[in-house]
Amino acid sequence: MDVRVGSVIDATEAEGPGLRFVLWVQGCSLACPDCCNPHMWSARGGESWSQEQIWERLERARARHPELEGLTLVGGEPFEQAPALAAFCARVRAAGLNVMAFSGYTLAELAERPDAGALLAEVDLLVDGRYQREEHTSERRFVGSTNQVMHFLTDAFSPEDPRFQEPNHAEIRMNHLGEVQVVGFPFEKVRAAFDPAYQAKLRQEEKRQQGKRLPAAEGSS
Ligand code: SF4
Repeated sequence: MDVRVGSVIDATEAEGPGLRFVLWVQGCSLACPDCCNPHMWSARGGESWSQEQIWERLERARARHPELEGLTLVGGEPFEQAPALAAFCARVRAAGLNVMAFSGYTLAELAERPDAGALLAEVDLLVDGRYQREEHTSERRFVGSTNQVMHFLTDAFSPEDPRFQEPNHAEIRMNHLGEVQVVGFPFEKVRAAFDPAYQAKLRQEEKRQQGKRLPAAEGSS
């Protein structure tokens, strides 16, 4: 079963603990306001990859980065392609890597979905819940808004691991085509610097807030 893929990075420390291979899954129907990856909402975007293609890419990444610790699924929404990813993650874990997944669905919602169980069974660490702009945080590691929860589904990770206490960070990368990509959890100003639409939105918000603070004009008498 093929996977619709938005993007892949061979090795980063910005999307989970340790050095990780990251798969951005294409397609998300949740449409959270201010999602930082709206270009990954369309299920028709990205490219279709066979599981073997992803596996070969992962193996090449592992050969170059033997310290690679695991796979992170992000999106887009991994659980909207759960059956294909369940099979792939089983192979990844059998090869000794751990699996972390970010989902906009809560664990309770996923537990209700008959198609999600097989993938959930292959995930060691789940960060769940919609991104909520008004709950935005830069304080909690690997979490974008305070409603989101980190679920340790196996003992592959310990909540006591000091890596979960470190501050969030982002990586600014340039690919072989000269395209700049921001990975991880950027502060709002960093995101705005690379995302003109978001920058315009922040400016608008700033003006609105300034307008609220201006004293009301005094009437003439
Ligand atoms: S669940 Fe994630 S990818 Fe989907 S809209 Fe929300 S923030 Fe974006």
